[in-house]
Amino acid sequence: MISKVQLNLTCKDTSFYSFIRKENFKQNKALNTGLALMHSYSILENVSGGEEVKIEKEIKRTLSKIENLKKRIDTNGEKINLEQKKINTNLVKLSKLKENRLKLKDDFRDNYFESDSLQHVLKTMNIIQEDTADLVIEKLNKDYSLNRILKGEESLKTYNENTPLMINSKKIIFKYIDNNFYIKNMFGYKVKVKNNISFLNKYNKFVSNKYILSRIDENFNHDIDNTYILDFIINNIVNKKYNIFNSCLRFTKDNLLIMEFLIDMPEVNDKYIPIKKRTLGVDLGMRNIAYLCLNDNISIHKKIGTSDKFIKARKIINFHELKNSDKLNTVKLYKKVELETYSNRIINHIIDFAKYNFCEYINLEKLQVNEFGKNLFDGWTYANFQKNIEHEAAKEGIIVRYINPSFTSQKCSKCGYIHKSNHILSDFKCSKCGLKLDSDYNAAINIARSNDFM
Ligand SMILES: [Zn+2]
Repeated sequence: MISKVQLNLTCKDTSFYSFIRKENFKQNKALNTGLALMHSYSILENVSGGEEVKIEKEIKRTLSKIENLKKRIDTNGEKINLEQKKINTNLVKLSKLKENRLKLKDDFRDNYFESDSLQHVLKTMNIIQEDTADLVIEKLNKDYSLNRILKGEESLKTYNENTPLMINSKKIIFKYIDNNFYIKNMFGYKVKVKNNISFLNKYNKFVSNKYILSRIDENFNHDIDNTYILDFIINNIVNKKYNIFNSCLRFTKDNLLIMEFLIDMPEVNDKYIPIKKRTLGVDLGMRNIAYLCLNDNISIHKKIGTSDKFIKARKIINFHELKNSDKLNTVKLYKKVELETYSNRIINHIIDFAKYNFCEYINLEKLQVNEFGKNLFDGWTYANFQKNIEHEAAKEGIIVRYINPSFTSQKCSKCGYIHKSNHILSDFKCSKCGLKLDSDYNAAINIARSNDFM
């Protein structure tokens, strides 16, 4: 998968920023110069201007005159000879004009384009760093098409301060010092990578800076620390697992310096190696649609979705079911599809979270039909949910296990004391050890750590 990475760069030495602006200006000048040369040559080579047409017509007319004269040569000897002399002189003059016109084109080519002369021109003009002349030419070849311009499909480009500064990807070398990433020797400066990062995948869809592996959904609030992703990406670059290309620098409207590049990331499931026995507990709760927590590190936990939207979608279905009218079947079906789509999104997020944290297992409660009052799912949705999550997890190499649901919400995740009488809706409070916790979070921990499989 080709993804675009954006990193915010900072440098203590502020002269770095003006250096980048100057370089950008010089590179744009080179691009504009190169483009002007390419365009001039294309015009000479491909476009018949008025002059060539005039010359060609004149030559043709002269040649046909000669033909006519030849036919009449016997009858009118001397007069015709004189006229032919005049015509021949004219013909020589015209041929010379044509020759000059062709020579102009050849001279232009010889001076600016023969072998590496465009590069040579750009270099000797001293407006560009030597190693980026290739990038300039590559970009010009990509950007310029006389054909498209003549058809009016595009106009001749200009490169201005909004054009990013292309940099040589091979020269970007990351270095890890004191918990921070730096770029080693960027034009002689020590440049720090700030902790923000974002991705655009091949569909050019924005992928949140906090949730790289996800199929994104704005309704969900992601709270994974993004330093983890930065480490993940840059480590893979350092270890040469990801190749970076098309690198450039640009300033945002707020004057932040951004480095952009593309990386070719191998599909994640190709290389998924889980941490042995790491389990993600999933509590399908009352207040949150799902609450996720790891068995071996309970500080890694996550709420998914608020219940409002889900309850609303489910209520509409129940309402129509009461009416039991054929007319409403289409609406019912539509709502059912909507609910299933929503449920699939939740599954995507659970799988992503599990993958992200290298889980080997996902633990779910084995719920009976009569227990559906306990969470936001009804029997039909839950059966589908189970089927789909197993399927999706299997694709990623994660195993779904079902555990005994007894006491998952009544048991204290810290001391193990079971509050039998207590059906918990708000915060869980342990009367034995005093633990106070979101009740769905408490249940998720118990589910993640349960060995009572069914
Ligand atoms: Zn307790």
